[in-house]
Amino acid sequence: MNNKVYRVLDLNLSQQELLVNETLFHNANGYLGVRSCFEEGYAPGLNSVRGTYINGFYDIAPMKQAETLFGLVEDKEVMLNVADTQSVSLKVCGETFSMFQGEVLESERILDMKAGITTRRVVWRSPAGREIEITVNRMASFLRKPLFLIDYRIKALNFGGPVTLTSTHNAEVMNFADKCDPRLAQSAIRQLSVTSCEVRGDESYIVSATNQSGLSVCSGVKNLPSKPCRKETCREGNAANCRMETDIRAGETISLAKYTVLTDSRRFADCRAAALREMARTAAVPLQELYDEQRAYLDTFWKNAVLEIDGDADLTCAVNYNLYQLLQSAGRDRYSGIASKGLSGEGYEGHYFWDTEMYILPFFALTNPEIAKSLLSYRYATLDKAKENARRLGHGQGALFPWRTISGRECSGYFPAGTAQYHINGDIAYATATYWLATGDIDYIASEGLALIIETARLWIDLGCWYRGSFRLNDVTGPDEYTCMVNNNYYTNVCAQYNLRWAVKAVKLLRESGFDDAVEKLRVTDEELKAFAEAADGMYLPYDSERGIIPQDDSFLSKPVWDVPGTPREQFPLLLHYHPLHLYRYQVCKQADTILAFFMFGFGRGYDAAVRSFDYYERITTHDSSLSLCVFSMVASMLKNHEKAYAYFGNSAMLDLKNTYGNTKDGIHTANMGGLYMSIVHGFGGLRIREDGLHLAPAVPEPWEGFRFSVTFHGNRILVEADKNGCGCTLTEGESVSLTLYGREYRLDRARPSCRAALEASK
Ligand code: BGC
Repeated sequence: MNNKVYRVLDLNLSQQELLVNETLFHNANGYLGVRSCFEEGYAPGLNSVRGTYINGFYDIAPMKQAETLFGLVEDKEVMLNVADTQSVSLKVCGETFSMFQGEVLESERILDMKAGITTRRVVWRSPAGREIEITVNRMASFLRKPLFLIDYRIKALNFGGPVTLTSTHNAEVMNFADKCDPRLAQSAIRQLSVTSCEVRGDESYIVSATNQSGLSVCSGVKNLPSKPCRKETCREGNAANCRMETDIRAGETISLAKYTVLTDSRRFADCRAAALREMARTAAVPLQELYDEQRAYLDTFWKNAVLEIDGDADLTCAVNYNLYQLLQSAGRDRYSGIASKGLSGEGYEGHYFWDTEMYILPFFALTNPEIAKSLLSYRYATLDKAKENARRLGHGQGALFPWRTISGRECSGYFPAGTAQYHINGDIAYATATYWLATGDIDYIASEGLALIIETARLWIDLGCWYRGSFRLNDVTGPDEYTCMVNNNYYTNVCAQYNLRWAVKAVKLLRESGFDDAVEKLRVTDEELKAFAEAADGMYLPYDSERGIIPQDDSFLSKPVWDVPGTPREQFPLLLHYHPLHLYRYQVCKQADTILAFFMFGFGRGYDAAVRSFDYYERITTHDSSLSLCVFSMVASMLKNHEKAYAYFGNSAMLDLKNTYGNTKDGIHTANMGGLYMSIVHGFGGLRIREDGLHLAPAVPEPWEGFRFSVTFHGNRILVEADKNGCGCTLTEGESVSLTLYGREYRLDRARPSCRAALEASK
């Protein structure tokens, strides 16, 4: 079985399945994303989220606060659904193809992750008995960012006669809304207005402008049929329809290549001119060449991102599916990060959260460091806005990154579970250090990374206060959104401590390496460094000596414990059934909080306290957030509770493929996808990147025979192959590398590229 081909047979046409498949088979390339709706549409009465998105392309929508308190944000950025270019309707001998009429004899959907294309294949019998096979390949090019391609093929199986294809390019589009779900937009507003719609021969170009953000987007479409035909492209309102008529013989295949290019004014000074240019460039390339270059790009990606589970091809395929989605979702320029739903849907309105830095960046840092760097550069590009955000909140110095955003401004309306999550600052600093440790790229740190670390550190100094000899951070919210606005959230404090320590360390390391200018530029003074070091050393980290556990914050353990097992299943996620204040007054966690701190910063109070804390939080965590199970899995691995680690790992690989959270229709869960990678590589693989280098200590979970993955460390690629007896490491690219396997150091080079250690060695 090819573990890079994901296939769904016998498509179910229920409303839910249709919407979920629109997400699961979407095509994206980090710049644009197109949901996988049927080209010809659904039966009347069935809904579709017929979305096409550009990463970082947004408008501003009102977000009215009930009371106009000082500094509350009154509007937000929303990722826009831009023109719909996926429509193609087909008529054979006067009969219109529809999955909801006639008879569907065969139907499948395929994502080929090596080729980078999705395929929809249908064999259909019309009400009059004509049989056709329709094969639609779709591709969002990884190399030509503005390009989305539909390759629509029709084969007449038992008849001959006239065929009509109508390909539509429609800019009258809106975003999706659901007023019952706070994770989606509450109301749909028309955010885009068409400013020009032109037909140029067999091409059409539509430019639309946003209402508020001053941005514009151009979509261009070109239809190239494989066979000469009567062809006419006409403008109809704010749409352009291309109608193609020809004849087909029994057994003959004809096809239509539909090229879409999307260009936006954030990346292209003149987006219309850029669309024309891109179209001319792309349409001149034979289709096969476009497919070949996509495959070549993915060959490199997969070489760097090997992840295979021996003896479980389905799981390997699911895991690869998740990694592929991360590649599809990741922005690669200074305008874009990774939306929590990637480019697959409108959940959370296309916003970027801490998900990127804490759950996804580690994957890229180890497999594709250029993308990791670009994600940090995106944050750096928004640093000035983060400083403005800090001032709005009354901070005299430093930067506070927004909890959710697109262009860098704060977009969370409900500040207790949004803006108050100051830990995002520490997360970004942590990710910067992770990138540095994984790549050794000190030039990046000198040019941008240091500013991220210093400005976030400055904020902690302004936020915190000294009380009874320790440095405290009051009125913040940790990762767990069921406990808001607390003093001394353990995760936040330990994250800030790390941030402050790295600020001191980074300045020292840069100075030692001759990058004094980088330090000067930020006007870092010795007094400031002293204040950073003192705050880090004096950071108050709550501990409950009676219970011997780490409390989530100062007041957490004084609250009544929520009866998680006794809560009826249908009341989860709790956020949809209980007033936030009600939840805040209980010990109940939406997601890993203190447990995440263990993974990132170690146990703090030792192994025994970690075991007790783990047991404690296990009982009160609902995992209502998809960012939680993977963390419990990794920490269970750290505690050497392999059975539990595997149980938490569970079917997180299937979260979207099986729609286990019930909202995959709104988009994929990218943080879970990154977390899944981490559960395997950091959890079961025991991988850590510390200042003294790369550490590995794989333990194969009981149900697996073994697993293997490749990682890149300081430019060297290493293949790690673990089985029940131990682990082997092989240098597959690069000159030489040192690593620590089960606590023992090895050096691999061209002459001796491999090492192997037995599991016993670690005991
Ligand atoms: C989680 C956050 C996360 C956000 C976006 C929320 O449900 O609580 O931690 O950042 O989803 O994925």
